[in-house]
Amino acid sequence: MPSAPQLVIRGSGDRVRCLACGHRCTILPDRSGVCRVRFNSGGELRAPSGYIAGVQVDPIEKKPFYHAFPARDALSFGMLGCDLHCSYCQNWVTSQALRDDSAVSRPTFCSPEQLIELAVRQKVPAMVSTYNEPLITADWAVEIFKLAKAEGICCGFVSNGNATPEVLEFIRPHVDLYKVDLKTFSDKQYRKLGGILENVLNSIRLIKKMGFWLEVVTLVVPGFNDGEDELKEIAAFLADVSIDVPWHVTAFRPDYKMNEPQRTPAETLIRAYDIGKEAGLRHVYPGNLAGGVGKRECTFCPTCERLLIRRRGFVVEENRMKNGACPFCNESIPGVWEDNPPNTTNGAGIPLRIALPESPCG
Ligand code: SF4
Repeated sequence: MPSAPQLVIRGSGDRVRCLACGHRCTILPDRSGVCRVRFNSGGELRAPSGYIAGVQVDPIEKKPFYHAFPARDALSFGMLGCDLHCSYCQNWVTSQALRDDSAVSRPTFCSPEQLIELAVRQKVPAMVSTYNEPLITADWAVEIFKLAKAEGICCGFVSNGNATPEVLEFIRPHVDLYKVDLKTFSDKQYRKLGGILENVLNSIRLIKKMGFWLEVVTLVVPGFNDGEDELKEIAAFLADVSIDVPWHVTAFRPDYKMNEPQRTPAETLIRAYDIGKEAGLRHVYPGNLAGGVGKRECTFCPTCERLLIRRRGFVVEENRMKNGACPFCNESIPGVWEDNPPNTTNGAGIPLRIALPESPCG
């Protein structure tokens, strides 16, 4: 039987090499990697576990996954830290907590069993690791997902895609849904965020090849990545990976250290949508502007062009899909579908407070 993939290589002099993300940090004893989460303790690579920094039950469309369990909720949880440092991060309170004193997030101890109990009680079909970069806390997420799978719950990562083949192999038995943020097609811009374009592109190719259900998001930031040529390059790249990969082009709003520019206008998202469709992508979704982009938020059958899922923001107003296919022409629609899905979103978006022991960390 092949041995389980490992996320560490031991080096000389108690050095360790971490393989959990594309940085592949070599870490000396008593030091941590770029993420400040994984650290070398006496020649052992360690990472915190047994805690969360946030948990919520909300629509799976918010992750966003549009081709997985539409109209259902996902249990979302996250920890602390990130391997990138995007100046416009919308989850900076958790993701930047270890490198920015103004990002104050309190860890709360919890066990995998407590999270699964919550997921079962809420009858969610999916759980996702999000809010911080899940790759850097992959071992802890896998501990949780092992129990989730045993309960028939589908598990996902909401990730920046700065992965390695090793970490993808490590999580693959436990993770079926994978959302990647493809932030720009400029390596120069990627490096400003702390990443490398080629790592993310290679990861996207591999995620698809390994059979995860992949959806890709590009937050369209005016003046950063909204140029015609750049959007065309992203769309062409994705179409080459697969024309069935849903591409979400979402609106930026000022956040964290990026107070300008203003929110992405609807016209820009509609232009990105047109570029994606011209590149051959079958499913392109402008997001974060509920009701502002017309029927483009909806899913249509690529063959007969009939409406399959009508959405407004994160709300599914009507789901006509039957057994993962178009009910009019029987075209199979790629995704992760239920046999008898709910017709509409029902009671989603309820923030939860769960009774877990307080962290002594304060
Ligand atoms: S997760 Fe990434 S950034 Fe963190 S130690 Fe490992 S390789 Fe370095």
